[in-house]
Amino acid sequence: AKQQGKAGFVRYVDGMREPVLAHMRLGGELRRALENDEFRVVYQPIMRLDDYRLIGVEALVRWDHPARGVVGPAEFIPAAERTGLIVPLGRFVLRETCRQAAAWLAEFGPDALREAGLNVSARQLHDPDFVAEVTSALTDSGLPCERLVLEVTESAVLRGQQVSRALYELDRMGIRLALDDFGTGESSLSLLRAFPAAIIKLDKSFVDGIEIDDGRPAAADARQAVARAVIQLADALGLDTVAEGVECPEQVTVLRELGYTVGQGYHLAQPMTAADVSTLLARQQPA
Ligand code: C2E
Ligand code: CA
Ligand code: CA
Ligand code: CA
Repeated sequence: AKQQGKAGFVRYVDGMREPVLAHMRLGGELRRALENDEFRVVYQPIMRLDDYRLIGVEALVRWDHPARGVVGPAEFIPAAERTGLIVPLGRFVLRETCRQAAAWLAEFGPDALREAGLNVSARQLHDPDFVAEVTSALTDSGLPCERLVLEVTESAVLRGQQVSRALYELDRMGIRLALDDFGTGESSLSLLRAFPAAIIKLDKSFVDGIEIDDGRPAAADARQAVARAVIQLADALGLDTVAEGVECPEQVTVLRELGYTVGQGYHLAQPMTAADVSTLLARQQPA
C-alpha cells in the first residue's frame, strides 16, 4: 500500500522495503545492546543417561531487552550474522563461557565438569582473528583447552579453505570440535572424513518420536534407524555422542538401548543461569 507523505513523497507502508528496514533497525539495536551489556549466557546441562549426572554444559545466549524482555537467539542470531555483529557477540559468549567454566573447575574440582561448549557461527570461523581470540580467552581464563568444545554446524564447516584451516588449528591446540545438529545436513557422512570432529550431536529431529512403538520389530523401526546408524558410526570412528532434545524418560530408555550414554534436553535439564548450575554441581559433589 502507498501513502502520500507530507512533502508529497510516496511512502511504502507495508511494501517490500519493510523487512530490510526491520533488519537495519535490529542491527542498530543489537549494536546498542552490546554496548549496554544486555546479552547474557545461560547454560544447559549435558547429562549422563544412566545416573543423570551433569558432565558438561552448552552455553546459549540470551538478550535481556529493556522493553521486550528475554529474547531468544533465533530472533537475533540471523541478523547478528548478516550485520557481522556476531563477531563481537560471539567473542563475548566465548570469553564469558571460558571464565565461568574455569570458575566452576576452581570451585568444584577437575571432575565436576568435563567440558563447556558454545556455538560458533560460520561468520566467526571466517574471521582471521578467531583462533587468536580463542587462544586469548583460554589464556585469560586459565581454562585448559581440552575443556572447551566448539559446536559447529555442517553449513558452517563447508565454507572452504579458511574455515577448514581454522578448524584444524583449533583441533591441534587440543580444543574439541562438535558437529551440531548432526544428520540434518546433506553431506554429514563425507563431512566426518574432512573435519576433525571429536563429538557428534544427534539432532533433536531424530530423537523426536524415537520412543513411539510403530508395531514393527525394533530392528526395522524407521524412527530409530538414523539414531542407530549415527551411534555405530561414532563408535567406529571413536567419537563421543550427545543426543539432543531429550524430552521424556521413554526417549532415555530407547537411546540407552541404542548405545547412547549422554544427552541434552528439557527432560534432563533446562537452560539455566550459572548460579543454578553451581547449585547442581554442589549437590553432585561426592560426600
Ligand atoms: P542449538 O545449538 O541446537 O541449541 C539447542 C537449542 O535447543 C537451544 O535453544 C535449547 O534451549 C533448545 N533445547 C534444548 N533442549 C530442548 C528440548 O528438549 N526440546 C526443545 N524443543 N528444545 C530444546 P536456544 O537457546 O533458543 O538456541 C537456539 C539456537 O540458537 C541454537 O541451537 C544455536 O544454533 C543458536 N545459538 C544459541 N546461542 C548461540 C551463540 O552464543 N552463538 C551462536 N552463533 N548461535 C547461538
Ligand atoms: Ca549447539
Ligand atoms: Ca543442536
Ligand atoms: Ca538445532
